[in-house]
Amino acid sequence: MTFDSMNLHPALLRAVAEEGYTTPTPIQQQAIPVVMSGRDLLGCAQTGTGKTAAFAIPILHQLMERRKAQQGGRRPIRALIATPTRELAIQIGESFANYGRHTGLRHTVIFGGVTQGSQTRALQQGVDILVVTTGRLLDLQQQGFIHLNDLEIFVLDEADRMLDMGFIHDVRKILKIIPQKRQTLLFSATMPDDIVKLSQSMLHQPKRVDITPQGTTAETIHQRLYYVERQDKNDLLVHLINEEKMETVLVFTRTKHGADKVVRMLNKKNITAEAIHGNKSQNNRQRALSNFKDGKTRVLVATDIAARGIDVEGLTYVVNYEIPNISETYVHRIGRSGRAGSAGRSFALCMPEEVKDWRNIEKLIGLKVPVITDHPYPCENPGVYREAPKAEQTGGRRNQQRPAASHAHASPRPKRFSRSYGSGRR
Ligand code: AMP
Repeated sequence: MTFDSMNLHPALLRAVAEEGYTTPTPIQQQAIPVVMSGRDLLGCAQTGTGKTAAFAIPILHQLMERRKAQQGGRRPIRALIATPTRELAIQIGESFANYGRHTGLRHTVIFGGVTQGSQTRALQQGVDILVVTTGRLLDLQQQGFIHLNDLEIFVLDEADRMLDMGFIHDVRKILKIIPQKRQTLLFSATMPDDIVKLSQSMLHQPKRVDITPQGTTAETIHQRLYYVERQDKNDLLVHLINEEKMETVLVFTRTKHGADKVVRMLNKKNITAEAIHGNKSQNNRQRALSNFKDGKTRVLVATDIAARGIDVEGLTYVVNYEIPNISETYVHRIGRSGRAGSAGRSFALCMPEEVKDWRNIEKLIGLKVPVITDHPYPCENPGVYREAPKAEQTGGRRNQQRPAASHAHASPRPKRFSRSYGSGRR
């Protein structure tokens, strides 16, 4: 199948060709005709599969085909895309800019954490397509800057992550302020029960499209596991970066604090690194991301939520500096590399305290990831679980992320620690 055979508007075919796409990805092959037909869609697909184009292209097509005479000069918002993170919203906005560049349709992106002035100005000028994070959408709608009475298409992207992040109430509120009669598309990387329920309440006789069976890791990604003691993780990370001659690498930590620590450690070793996480300002995050994309920074250290939606073309390496305690997170992490069929490599650094989490990951992905034993920092009993010590160095913070942590509940760190942590600028 080619894009040309899909009856897409010529303005879209031109943009797709300019992007250098020749063949639609599997999700695009399945989803584009469904969306073009006006039907609701339930899409189970990870980022990295070409999911954004799978909805952006047919939405642009529909809006072109049904181009409305503008009443009284006002451009109504006709398509709304709700996403869990600012990064993802920005990236989806970029996709609309790319695929829609010859359509004359206008879009804008709105998200929280920045002043609203430029966003409200864009809205007042009129947009056809609005990409949002939910909090700022509701806020601006309440202030009277956003009217959704003419909405034709609603997309909920990364619905599973949206629910994980506690945005279900926002989603319900949005459903109340958009027309009942509309086309709805829901995308989610996983389909747990709460997503199925949500989809039943939002979608009308949807066509279901499954691209990545739950928990399956992209086949193109070459995964390796290293057992290592906690105190050797930094050295092993540096060793891997140098040994593999990684030009750019995305490193995942569980916590913001952990991300900052890794950055400081790498900088001391003269490896350029920046962190991207929720404590950084929006501008700071965008700058870190563009430095990384431009190759100015070799290592981007990210927490899971901040990294969701990061799309770096040609990213080969992902390092799991810490093993995630939610197994699906591993699938999302490694999905950052090897995108759209290119080769990716993922390295997991697993200390004895993380062995249980690692076993759960292997159960989910249905794979035994090859273990590399031939490295300079081997562990005494590789693959054997060990409980975390009671008052370990990073325990207090790590355990905050574990639901009902079963062990090692370290007492909170003394205030002195957190104060000195933020006062490095003198
Ligand atoms: P997504 O899953 O939407 O995050 O897309 C992943 C990556 O695949 C992005 O970098 C897109 O530019 C790229 N991509 C999307 N569709 C195609 C296609 N048909 N051919 C080649 N690359 C594509």
